[in-house]
Amino acid sequence: MPTPTPKPSICCYCGVGCGVLVAPLPGGDVSVVGNPDYPVNRGALCSKGLNLQYTVNDRSDRLLHPQMRYSRTRPLQRVSWDEALQRTAAVFKTFIAKYGPDSVAFYASGQCLTEEYYVLNKLMKGFIGSNNLDTNSRLCMSSAVVGYKMALGEDSVPVCYDDLDLADCFLVAGANPAWCHPILWRRVEARKAAHPATKVIVIDPRATDTCALADLHLQLIPGTDVVLLQAIARVLLENGDVDADFLAHHTEGYETYRALVLARPVAESAALCGVPEADIRLAASYIGSAQAFLSMWTMGLNQSAVGVDKNLCLLNLHLLTGQIGRPGAGPLSLTGQPNAMGGREVGGLSNLLPAHRNLANPAHRAEVQQFWGSGPLAAQPGYTATEMFEALEAGRLKAIWIVCTNPLTSLPNARQAEAALAKAKFVVVQEVSSQPQTLTYADVVLPAAAWAEKEGTMTNSERRISHLAKVVDAPGEALPDAEIICRFAQAMGFPGFDYPSPEAIYLEHIRLTAGTSLDSTGLNYSTLKERGSVQWPYRAGQAAPDTPRLFTDHRFYTPSGRAVLHAPAASFRSEAPDEEFPFVLTTGRIRDQWHTMTKTGKVSKLTKHLPQAFLELHPQDAEALGVAEGELVTVSSRRGEVRVAARLSVGIRPGVVFLPMHWGRQLGSDLNRANNVTSGTLDPLSKEPDFKFCAVQVVKY
Ligand code: SF4
Repeated sequence: MPTPTPKPSICCYCGVGCGVLVAPLPGGDVSVVGNPDYPVNRGALCSKGLNLQYTVNDRSDRLLHPQMRYSRTRPLQRVSWDEALQRTAAVFKTFIAKYGPDSVAFYASGQCLTEEYYVLNKLMKGFIGSNNLDTNSRLCMSSAVVGYKMALGEDSVPVCYDDLDLADCFLVAGANPAWCHPILWRRVEARKAAHPATKVIVIDPRATDTCALADLHLQLIPGTDVVLLQAIARVLLENGDVDADFLAHHTEGYETYRALVLARPVAESAALCGVPEADIRLAASYIGSAQAFLSMWTMGLNQSAVGVDKNLCLLNLHLLTGQIGRPGAGPLSLTGQPNAMGGREVGGLSNLLPAHRNLANPAHRAEVQQFWGSGPLAAQPGYTATEMFEALEAGRLKAIWIVCTNPLTSLPNARQAEAALAKAKFVVVQEVSSQPQTLTYADVVLPAAAWAEKEGTMTNSERRISHLAKVVDAPGEALPDAEIICRFAQAMGFPGFDYPSPEAIYLEHIRLTAGTSLDSTGLNYSTLKERGSVQWPYRAGQAAPDTPRLFTDHRFYTPSGRAVLHAPAASFRSEAPDEEFPFVLTTGRIRDQWHTMTKTGKVSKLTKHLPQAFLELHPQDAEALGVAEGELVTVSSRRGEVRVAARLSVGIRPGVVFLPMHWGRQLGSDLNRANNVTSGTLDPLSKEPDFKFCAVQVVKY
């Protein structure tokens, strides 16, 4: 038999978006290797990508048929697709008629394909008439989105990955790319190896593997990022390391920001942050003398009660120094999920409209309504991720449809989320796997096709759009998510969901981008397959093949065309430690697991690295608590508790403890689940939860 030709696709884990080649094997299995021609990774893959085929080929946990029940005291029963969708449509129609469109909600995922996001958004906002569509991207990138919009005018990452090969100063803030975005980090390592004068600054309360490359580690007290970033800005000002011409001609808000940062002496900032003043000055001198300064950040900035402020302060460093819109320079927000950006492009959050249109703008709403041929779009933002679960618990929300995400492991204050789902009148779970705990609460279960079993597109963290091929058929009766949503929309009686192919959905989305900042009217599946990938915008007929960098003309997307330096005061909105709960808890990822482990947890090679959840704490704290390495500890907050083994590390600040975020309820126990204790405090603008800061108590078990 001839060897089947592998098809190009994109790794389904993090937002780096590495290219892979996927080939079908006998028995429905696949093989996966890195794509040597793909510009992001040139064939390289990290430990998760290298083991991707095992997660696809192990179908032992797959959902194979639609299931339904009329009472949660009874087991789910196998039903046909028609029965499941007709009943779901009947229940949704009843709630919408009785309580209004805001009584129902969809909670989806940054793993969805762009086409899936698009039809969900069209269904909910256009035809059901509510903005209650949010995704787990809210837990991840929403503070960066708001920061970009406020500073640059739109949610737009200005740089490309090739800038990693050109920068001579990297600032990594609240991120551990050596573990979580390894393929990009290898490029930074290569840059430093080839040009040893390249400086790497890391801001993190923990000494992670990323610090191994750092010239300077600023091990700040958690929650003091705004103070630290403003202190760096002050030293840049003192040293005259600002771009006066750029500030004068391409920004606004400079004088107010300047006054703010000059108001606090560097020594005072240093004391507040727990960082030596000399290190702050050294960081500023590295940035100030850089030819090309590039920043990278993830959840340490975003997942915070002041996440937007932290983002604005980081962006301000680029605006002060004019380090944006040129090779090797600019802010690069690293994305945890493979298609968080594609979701934002189609407007897949409860406060967004397609193609970066503004929900508050009546003309934008009318434009989308006319395009869709739908009813009027609601002006008010819908419930965000955590608000949905609060509304379920309060009875304001009657029905929730959960698509491709595992909220009972990933949401903060997870026990409250469990209570909310228990109270929900109607729960639909559209899933690949039987593992998520949400199935316990499901009235209807809809089996979905997995990665490599469906076709579509994704956009990675550098605005690079790629086509993902279908390689094998889904098992049982599982269907692609977009097809499930379209069938449901038709069962609801809505027009405009009879798409002949995923590409037809994609082309409709592309038409909506015309004339916007992400205009991609030059794209279709053929172009994507032929080119391999393209960075938006990609306008029909544009001379350049794609757009690696934005703002090269220093014209920003704000009304004035100028970037805006905002001046957030350093405020503290997190749950403060006290006598009863004296430690600060921060959460995060480990090297070989991804999200809630429904995929990576199936691969023995990956679970070997760190097989159990643990609490990382400083040996000084462990000694005071009478705890030795490997002994069980109970971590408690006002919301719940976790019981795991202690892991001692001199790399974490005394007074700070760390839990990995991946584990959920297993074998009837939820004591591995970090989110039992995390806080539901939100950033007031982005509504992103404060996963990186809550007050806990630690005792020996
Ligand atoms: Fe996949 Fe991210 Fe690893 Fe690349 S870096 S192989 S996208 S998990």
